Amino acid sequence: MSEETNKPDSILVITPHPDDSESASGGTIAKWCADGKKVVLVVCTNGDKGTSDRSVKPADLAATREVETLNAAKAYGLADVVFLRMKDQGLEDNDEFREKLVRQIRIHKPRLLLTIDPNRPYIRHRDHSMTGRVALDAVFPYARDHVAYPEHLEEGIEPHKVEEVWLFRPEQPNIHVDVTEHFETRQNALHSHVSQVGERSDESDERSRKRLAETGKKYDVELAEQFMQIKIGY
Ligand SMILES: [Zn+2]
Repeated sequence: MSEETNKPDSILVITPHPDDSESASGGTIAKWCADGKKVVLVVCTNGDKGTSDRSVKPADLAATREVETLNAAKAYGLADVVFLRMKDQGLEDNDEFREKLVRQIRIHKPRLLLTIDPNRPYIRHRDHSMTGRVALDAVFPYARDHVAYPEHLEEGIEPHKVEEVWLFRPEQPNIHVDVTEHFETRQNALHSHVSQVGERSDESDERSRKRLAETGKKYDVELAEQFMQIKIGY
């Protein structure tokens, strides 16, 4: 079933917090959208702990961050955004979270799944390692196997085989994307998250350009983002 229904140009991005995918892979997402690929973003947490301002109410921040994410989606031209609205700083490697990710994989049937590398040693955000780990487990074997979450079958949601996973913020990068032509869109998407990174400015552009150029230098291109690519053999 999965091979026939696999859409060659479909991509699912799974991000722990609303702005993580933009800061780490915004140029690549912009390029995919510009190339006409169907990109769907899944935001795992509501991001309501993303502030150091004690006067900000968590519920207000969560609402703000959904609007910001929809603005980023507009800047890219994403096909869809799914908010799982799980507790910020509350993700666990458990059945509840895994089922939600398996469900999204089976619904959207991506050829490629982009998520965060779970393997950062020592100092890391727990939601980041949980998201990367559970997303990888959801791809293989859970989304593939009809015996995993059989209730999906009753809803008409079929198993699916993802062909490859890319990890952003990779500990061991093995692939890069030239994002030179997509800097504008990347900056607009990133700075849609005003509550996290502020308004776009000459200074923020300069900072971003410098960071992307450092990666670009490794690969002999002007601006680049890098990933760990994992091809899945079934
Ligand atoms: Zn995050």
